[in-house]
Amino acid sequence: MKQKFILSIDQGTTSSRAILFNHLGEMVRVSQKPFEQIFPKPGWVEHNAKEIWSSQISVVTEVLAKQSIDTENVAAIGITNQRETTVVWDRETSEPIYNAIVWQDRRTAKYCDELKELGHIDTIKKKTGLVLDAYFSATKLKWILDNVEGAREKAEAGKLCFGTVDTWLIWKLTKGELFITDVSNASRTMLYNIHNLEWDKELLELFDIPIAMLPTVKESSEVYGNTSIFSSQIPIAGIAGDQQAALFGQMCTKPGMVKNTYGTGCFLLMNTGEKAVYSENNLLTTIGWKINGKTTYALEGSVFVGGAAIQWLRDGAKMVKTAPGINHLAETVEDNGGVYFVPALTGLGAPYWDPYARGALMGITRGTTDAHIARATIEGIAFQVYDIVKAMEADSKEKSVELRVDGGAAASDLLLQIQSDLFGFKILRPKTLETTALGAAYLAGLAVGYWDSIEDIQSQWVIDKEFHPVSNEEKVKDMLHYWHKAVKCAQSWIEE
Ligand code: ADP
Repeated sequence: MKQKFILSIDQGTTSSRAILFNHLGEMVRVSQKPFEQIFPKPGWVEHNAKEIWSSQISVVTEVLAKQSIDTENVAAIGITNQRETTVVWDRETSEPIYNAIVWQDRRTAKYCDELKELGHIDTIKKKTGLVLDAYFSATKLKWILDNVEGAREKAEAGKLCFGTVDTWLIWKLTKGELFITDVSNASRTMLYNIHNLEWDKELLELFDIPIAMLPTVKESSEVYGNTSIFSSQIPIAGIAGDQQAALFGQMCTKPGMVKNTYGTGCFLLMNTGEKAVYSENNLLTTIGWKINGKTTYALEGSVFVGGAAIQWLRDGAKMVKTAPGINHLAETVEDNGGVYFVPALTGLGAPYWDPYARGALMGITRGTTDAHIARATIEGIAFQVYDIVKAMEADSKEKSVELRVDGGAAASDLLLQIQSDLFGFKILRPKTLETTALGAAYLAGLAVGYWDSIEDIQSQWVIDKEFHPVSNEEKVKDMLHYWHKAVKCAQSWIEE
């Protein structure tokens, strides 16, 4: 193949990025641009969809210029994106009719409570694999149709398009020729039936969404069409939501394989193969990807406060000057000295799902120092991740044998060592930590034959460092006992 690169478009919540990858799966060049976060009211979060596009196209142009290449050198484009964020635009003019409503936006939480009371929880879980929540696109889309003047009439007349961010970007890249999404993004809308792989008529009726405004759902790796805005056409050939792309970029391609991203929060996904596994432990069932007609499902769980606990120690408690500084401080003590920190600063995610939990610092004595608290903070992240993987194991009946990691806080050797001790298995940190963008690049590259097969790219996943358990089992058992006791103290703290 004469072309040298795959271009990955990584449209995130706070910035748009464009990354060039070469045949070896190495990141060659990157460009990044932040964009405005709009908070019109408490609990509301919006983005200007036109700014999402302009920031994205400007980094694409910049990354090609930096590498001094033209579009002919790009074999394909892969797209990964912030999930669930909802864009509605006019089919004829391509003008958005309202700002994009971001996944974090809570404006439809009350409406979701009403639906729960009306008994819709089980149907939604059965069809979509999701918990009934404002997080997903369905209620955001309904809100736009109900609140933007004239929107509903236009939608019913087939004059509006709905898309998650992937759909919006592809529409712009092809000047409206392609109106598509992929199964992984569709599975986050709460409108998509993850079993028969169709937009669900009953849910469309429930949310009052005209089917005419929905994009066609494609596989995650296929040539969808070509761009029409550059000097030469580039095939668009891969799409996946950010966390699913990361699971693929970590090459967690076999059932039972798990990845965790230690970012501000932590995002865990377990590949469950061709089975959609239902959770008894507040995890989500979602589609990982569909390739060559085969759908791969995943279980997903998230920790709300992961690396953010370290940020709190830095900015709130002012115990460290920088995030990496926590490691030096925590390393000055051998253990937590009996101190446990439950970083439920914004409630607890899976498996507890308790919005009323708050942070708890337990076991403080006269001998406690800032170093013990630093260590307890790192442990608090690792314990939360432990609890989610255990929930995944219980739901999937698969035993994990390793965890693949990425994200900013995965830079902490101490955190990963503690994590390995808790699990009693190895933690693997790959050389390329840009797994999200890499996953999208792989999906696109596979579709155009830039890479031959998944087996072909498997060997590119190279370990930077692995962590093996060294702690004794009794000690770990004791720590887990006190951790779970501390969690109980943190739960249901706030009273309505
Ligand atoms: P996001 O993509 O969610 O914004 P990142 O993946 O960039 O987050 O990760 C940022 C988090 O990583 C921050 O919360 C920060 O506290 C933490 N972090 C960064 N470097 C280190 C380090 N060396 N040790 C521990 N934590 C770190």
